[in-house]
Amino acid sequence: MRLSKLHMRTLKEVPNDAVVPSHILLVRADMIRQGASGIYGFMHMGYRTLRKIEQIVREEMDAIGSQEIHMSAVSPAELWQESGRWNAYGPELWRIKDRNDRDFCLGPTHEEVFTDLVRNDTSSYRQLPFSLYQIQTKYRDEARPRFGLMRSREFVMKDAYSFNADPESLDESYNEMYEAYEKIFTRCGLEYRAVEADTGAIGGSNSHEFTALSEVGESEIAYCTSCDYAATDERAECVDDPASDEEMKPLEKVLTPGTKTIEAVADYLGLDKTQTIKALLFETYDNDEKVNGYVAAFVRGDRDVNMIKLVNALNIPEFAIAFADEEKMSKACGCVGGFTGPMHLHDCTVVVDSELKGMKNLCAGACETDHHYINMNYGRDYEGDIVTDIKVLKEGDKCPKCGGMIKHARGIEVGQVFKLGTKYSEAMNALYKDEQQKEHAIWMGCYGIGVSRTMAAVVEQMHDENGIIWPVSVAPYHVIITVVKPKDEAQSALGEKIYEELQAAGIETLLDDRNERPGVKFNDAELLGIPAAITVGRGAADGIVEYKLRREENKEEITAEEAVKKAISFIKTELDGRCFFK
Ligand code: ATP
Ligand code: MG
Repeated sequence: MRLSKLHMRTLKEVPNDAVVPSHILLVRADMIRQGASGIYGFMHMGYRTLRKIEQIVREEMDAIGSQEIHMSAVSPAELWQESGRWNAYGPELWRIKDRNDRDFCLGPTHEEVFTDLVRNDTSSYRQLPFSLYQIQTKYRDEARPRFGLMRSREFVMKDAYSFNADPESLDESYNEMYEAYEKIFTRCGLEYRAVEADTGAIGGSNSHEFTALSEVGESEIAYCTSCDYAATDERAECVDDPASDEEMKPLEKVLTPGTKTIEAVADYLGLDKTQTIKALLFETYDNDEKVNGYVAAFVRGDRDVNMIKLVNALNIPEFAIAFADEEKMSKACGCVGGFTGPMHLHDCTVVVDSELKGMKNLCAGACETDHHYINMNYGRDYEGDIVTDIKVLKEGDKCPKCGGMIKHARGIEVGQVFKLGTKYSEAMNALYKDEQQKEHAIWMGCYGIGVSRTMAAVVEQMHDENGIIWPVSVAPYHVIITVVKPKDEAQSALGEKIYEELQAAGIETLLDDRNERPGVKFNDAELLGIPAAITVGRGAADGIVEYKLRREENKEEITAEEAVKKAISFIKTELDGRCFFK
């Protein structure tokens, strides 16, 4: 591709709304352009990279025998009503109507569509197991679209679904997918961790998220420094210390003027925050978004409430809860802003973190302005309607697997594998007959990869202050030839010669033959992140060029023939014999 012909407009300035490197660089390099909030188009370079990531995904899915199909992005409301998700999905589901007022949605994911497809043509155990996948545009009307391709409202996802006769067969499909994901993210050049995302009713670990490590990622992961345990912050289990055998002291109400925060009361009473109880107050909503109840949640003073664990404990959807209007909740339940404790509350659900049960002589609000209790003990002084783990696993906590030390890191969730079990097949009646003609629900797994988010994750991990540094496997082009002065005949002729030779060898090559200032061209070459650069300048008359890899500082002055040879061997080695756009 000749840059003089390419429809491309790189930018010097950082776009207004962009704060993370991948968003800034993908826009500045003109790989993506915004159409509306969270909606992006892919320009020539960006689209090539997107397709390369798709191709890596496709090859690894095909390699495990998954079959590619392509369903519509538009799905009828009836399917979603059948599974119960038409309501449960909330405002993120992008709903549309046709001219006859029939409801549809733009698929945010396709469990319903695939379950429907399979229930209609699968009847015997002989047909199982199999898996289907598609690479397709998904829609989620995210509350806060941000960070460019990372959290957009329209994005490309690979979604796969496995259909199995029993849990053992599902385990096999799950493991195959897990291994395919390891290959995919490794081929994309990502540094990632597979983290446990759920340990639900099915038992064992039934979901893993693949998280590309990055400071700007929105996932917090907790990992053990002694064993291979890693889990998302949202789901990480906590193990409580054994119950304390300290003597219970008499409950005492003390004056604590103006101490509305845990820090303030701990300071005032000379306590450690771990000896206090923190209160968090919430209201819950019904389907019409009306308040239908109040929740008071209690955790140790230095801890945070894990909202996923809390909604699971309450058995309500994530969007049906928010911080309470304290004034209203005070009137209804007897809490007092800044001085709420688990005693004297009424007409609300009290959720107590399991750890508090075993702790003795704690300090908590007295539900009275400027007062706290000290020496409060579970069982004697207060109880919970629900007592379970609702806390976030902190750095320094014990590993739930081996007891080692937990650390935190940030990352970008690029994929997830999930054992669905029979959740959808039961709700939607997807059955098969066994050898004895007995009917069973099909066991299912679902497996997603955010293809466009992966593209952003690669840029987050591989860039410098000048631009992107694409790994060869997903680079839009492999080599860029910069002709410093295209009007100089020797330079122009040598540039053309190298261009032809590289293309003939199957190397995807850009020729910067634009009549631009050299500085502009060098900046663009760096910004675009093309893995290898050959600069044809003053030495052209003697057949000498400059050869440089984007990821290395080192430049070499060598003959054009050597440069061509080096480039071909570098690209072929990196691709391990795989070329996509031949
Ligand atoms: P998140 O927690 O980030 O909202 P999710 O867990 O809801 O994501 P899944 O339903 O597991 O997402 O979707 C599969 C994959 O699709 C995710 O692992 C992620 O890579 C990608 N993805 C999800 N939402 C978005 C989005 N808004 N923009 C881009 N990619 C997304
Ligand atoms: Mg997910």
